[in-house]
Amino acid sequence: MKDLKITNVKTILTAPDNVNLVVVKVETSEPGLYGLGCATFTQRYLAVKTAIDEYMKPFVIGKDPLRIEDIWHTACVSSYWRNGPVLNNAISGVDMALWDIKGKLAGMPVYQLLGGKCREAAAVYRHADGRDEQEVEDNIRAYMEQGYRHVRCQMGLYGGANHKMNSPENALPGAYYDPDAYSRSVVRLFEHLRNKLGFEIELCHDVHERIAPIEALRLAKRLEPYRLFFLEDALAPEQIEWFQMIRQQSATPIAMGELFNNPVEWTSLVANRLIDFIRSHVSTIGGITPAYKLAHFCEAFSVRTAWHGPPDVSPVGHAANVHLDVSVPNFGIQEWSGLSERMHEVFPGCPELRSGYVYPNDRPGLGIDIDESKAALYPCKNDLPKWTLARLPDGTPVRP
Ligand code: MG
Repeated sequence: MKDLKITNVKTILTAPDNVNLVVVKVETSEPGLYGLGCATFTQRYLAVKTAIDEYMKPFVIGKDPLRIEDIWHTACVSSYWRNGPVLNNAISGVDMALWDIKGKLAGMPVYQLLGGKCREAAAVYRHADGRDEQEVEDNIRAYMEQGYRHVRCQMGLYGGANHKMNSPENALPGAYYDPDAYSRSVVRLFEHLRNKLGFEIELCHDVHERIAPIEALRLAKRLEPYRLFFLEDALAPEQIEWFQMIRQQSATPIAMGELFNNPVEWTSLVANRLIDFIRSHVSTIGGITPAYKLAHFCEAFSVRTAWHGPPDVSPVGHAANVHLDVSVPNFGIQEWSGLSERMHEVFPGCPELRSGYVYPNDRPGLGIDIDESKAALYPCKNDLPKWTLARLPDGTPVRP
């Protein structure tokens, strides 16, 4: 379209389910033509809002919204320092909105712009927790009855719970856990689940970086008989060189990457075939533009996608995930945390879940909208989530 220009960028903060979400609306010179993107960094949402309002907005106003690559690259390098989660999320909010605009102009869903469907819908996994092995089993069975064939299993949240703790006097407050007791409990959990459920259901587990690298290696080996679909975040991003040792000694499939910001974090892991699933948080790496390239880079090495899909992704971000899921050949699985009725009211056009699959809708663009007056009914709160202050039994602060 001739002379199409970006005329405004709005940052919309909302928390319909008490999780801070950041949504970007990019408006254009064409009346009624706008796009939406996800820029959710829930723990630092005000920093992202500032990055969008004070830096991205003046940077893109007046530019042609169809020049997505040019805007992505120039936005990324114009700060000189780059690849951090705050600025990447701000860029993502605009990037996804530009894909939304391009799809609306083309009269096509975004998955068509990405090459078209390789599958009708994306298989998803759900998250089953429980206080003990039996409760986890019961929760998995409930998901199986709803048609799910993939479930991620935890017992007592990340790092486990109810461990007897012997802490020193005057230990500081925090979310205490015992990594060794947790690691032993995971093996017991999967032994129980495979004995009771057999091998027809695919099971995953998220270590959430809670154990020492050598214990991660031991855990991957001990879980091998239970044939996990994947073991997630066995190591912190700072310790990725240990993956080589895990790979050399275990055939447990490895998923990694929800905390990655920078391409150098994934390049060697993928090219050396040290992981099986890339789990990036699409808004944290900068949106659809880098995610599409990352997926195709992974395809060359038979690494599959498993985009991060927790409650701190907005429905706009979930929609972007699903458009990528259905169009890339090397899709693996999509994390799905469920969208409430309230979320559907604030975000008309959410992807739809049926019998273990999530479907994009066929409307042009990302196919999702936001009711700004309803979004305003649910203000964000600047509270620090307690689980982020993880501590070992002696009080040492560690990765959450
Ligand atoms: Mg995770």
